[in-house]
Amino acid sequence: MSRIVIALGGNALQSGKGAATAQAQLETVNATCEYIAEMMQKDYEVAIVHGNGPQIGRILLASETAKDITPVMPFDVCGAMSQGYIGYHIQQGMRKALDKRGIKRPVASLVTQVVVDKNDPGFANPTKPIGAFYSKEEADALAAEKGYTMKEDAGRGWRRVIASPLPMRIQEIDTIKYLLAGNTVLITCGGGGIPVIEGAAGLEGVAAVIDKDFSAEKLAEEIGAEVLMILTEVEQAAIHFGKPNQENLGNITVAQAEKYIAEGHFAPGSMLPKVQAAVKFAKTGKRAIITALDKAIPALEGKTGTVVTI
Ligand code: ADP
Ligand code: MG
Repeated sequence: MSRIVIALGGNALQSGKGAATAQAQLETVNATCEYIAEMMQKDYEVAIVHGNGPQIGRILLASETAKDITPVMPFDVCGAMSQGYIGYHIQQGMRKALDKRGIKRPVASLVTQVVVDKNDPGFANPTKPIGAFYSKEEADALAAEKGYTMKEDAGRGWRRVIASPLPMRIQEIDTIKYLLAGNTVLITCGGGGIPVIEGAAGLEGVAAVIDKDFSAEKLAEEIGAEVLMILTEVEQAAIHFGKPNQENLGNITVAQAEKYIAEGHFAPGSMLPKVQAAVKFAKTGKRAIITALDKAIPALEGKTGTVVTI
């Protein structure tokens, strides 16, 4: 049985419309799990990675808003919470979708820590806005009191910004391998993993966001996956994206992808990390696919998607 790592984007967890309630997320996740279960009928060992941007933002916001009643949770703890409830929803959705197809494999999600380098250049220049919006005065007070880096966010107010370091190592990798070998459908590295650094007294959680596409790539390498499948809103990555001369990309080589990256075709923070992750994985001689959730199977069969190979 070959292994596949599936990285789920925001749209696989929540639809753009409607309230961001737990119930709405569960409904979207249920639909997503149907696609994954369908893929699994093709006999893949599956590890599922998911994003958590909107979810972790809301957990933090709720915690910050309730600060006079209950202590504000640190960002790494918010990450752990998001892995918990997103994983829980995927576990329910996968169980239902597998039972429907008579597939008896176990499903589990693993709270996963990903080690980052405390000297990563990301920490010196944090760029990812998170949590609530503040006035200039509140922002200055938070910076003084908590040492947060605060930046003005596109005219909407001041927000805390945090680092986006690269994943170095997946702390629970041995457990992941063990569970996959036991045929478990495994949800892991959620939100890119809980970022930790190696401190004097062991691992320490840090305020950072690890890009889930990079963590999924690291995972795919570590477990010897055949395919890294990045599922997002678009069927294919494109050059001249959103312009009249937009051209969707089908099968491309690492060299072509690197050329398009250098030419600036992919937006940082959205398509760029996906193409970069795909390139890194393709360099190991394997196949990376970027496509939409509902095109996953045709893409696996080589009929669509952006497929990067060496
Ligand atoms: P996810 O939540 O799946 O990680 P993102 O929203 O971060 O997804 O990134 C996917 C989005 O990137 C697409 O929906 C598209 O709007 C945008 N995008 C930016 N540049 C490109 C490009 N060159 N080709 C295709 N999509 C692009
Ligand atoms: Mg998105």
